[in-house]
Amino acid sequence: VICKFFMPTKVFLGKDCIIDNAAQLQALGKKAFVVTGRSSAKANGSLASVEAALRASKIAYSVFDRILSNPSIELVREAAKVAKEEGADFIIGIGGGSPMDAAKAIAVLAANEIDDTVLFSGPYPQPVLPIVAVPTTAGTGSEVTQYSILSDDRLQTKSSIANEAIFPQIAFLDASYTQHLPVHVTINTAIDALSHAIEGYLSAKATNISSMLAAESMTMLGKCVKVLAGKVDFAVREQLLYASMLAGMVIAHTGTTALHSMGYSLTYFKDIDHGRANGLLMYQYLEFISMEHPSIVAKIVSLLGMENLGELKNCLDRLLGDKELISASEIQQFSAKAIQAKNIVNTIRRPSQEDLAGIIERSFCG
Ligand SMILES: [Zn+2]
Repeated sequence: VICKFFMPTKVFLGKDCIIDNAAQLQALGKKAFVVTGRSSAKANGSLASVEAALRASKIAYSVFDRILSNPSIELVREAAKVAKEEGADFIIGIGGGSPMDAAKAIAVLAANEIDDTVLFSGPYPQPVLPIVAVPTTAGTGSEVTQYSILSDDRLQTKSSIANEAIFPQIAFLDASYTQHLPVHVTINTAIDALSHAIEGYLSAKATNISSMLAAESMTMLGKCVKVLAGKVDFAVREQLLYASMLAGMVIAHTGTTALHSMGYSLTYFKDIDHGRANGLLMYQYLEFISMEHPSIVAKIVSLLGMENLGELKNCLDRLLGDKELISASEIQQFSAKAIQAKNIVNTIRRPSQEDLAGIIERSFCG
């Protein structure tokens, strides 16, 4: 196979795209189960838009608004039990990566009595309930991926489901819901999208099509990151949402790489936000790759519209501010965990645990 491309998600992008396309929901069933966090979907108007679209389509629904960030397996099992009792035909995830990822796992578990091993590896005995994704941050790209990242307390890390059965059927992207995000959330999520585009471009699984999407995403994000620290206007918000969706399509094909592997440890053990964790490690990761693959890293820098890697470092330093403190023993613990992650094999310069420890150390103690 020279190139495989598969993208089954129907994407609508634009202001008011949910209510304008409410009829799309009718094909999915008569009862929806809406999955979201405690407050943001109410504050930013996304939940109200979804409820209006469901009412317009005469679809009954119930709302589960208890998804926390980095959702655990226990929490999605509890939500799936409610979805089943409610007789849900399909699941709508509204929010950042956490509610969308939770919605995917809930769609699996509401239709299947399976243990954790089968949840993560498949195949699933029964068809997964249809999934609708409404992102309210511009970062994870979860609305167009077959991934669901959950916190796994048994393995002490974040574990991912990767299964084509959990691609959302529909994604509604309306940048209005991202307009009042706090500055640090806008920054962290944009950097997550940037890391998806960069890692996808550097992945051992990259294809012509995925690299084309990654290049377009990096070109847009390179312009956007320069204005993130100030007031971000609607046109830029829309570009961020579009670029993060493209980057999601990229990692749907390429997976992520060692940068995400290391980032998961920082998130799990130090509670550092996912996008921020990737951003803190990004420059040293690119230096590491550049030693064996200088021309491809130079290409990334030029796609971002920057002079050199140092300009990217300065940009990230400015956006991320003071770094967390990390001890020598934590560096060992994090690198030992990261080297076991599935996505390590996608890294074009294959790192050893010592290499990862070096990247983490230079990122925090440099
Ligand atoms: Zn990510």
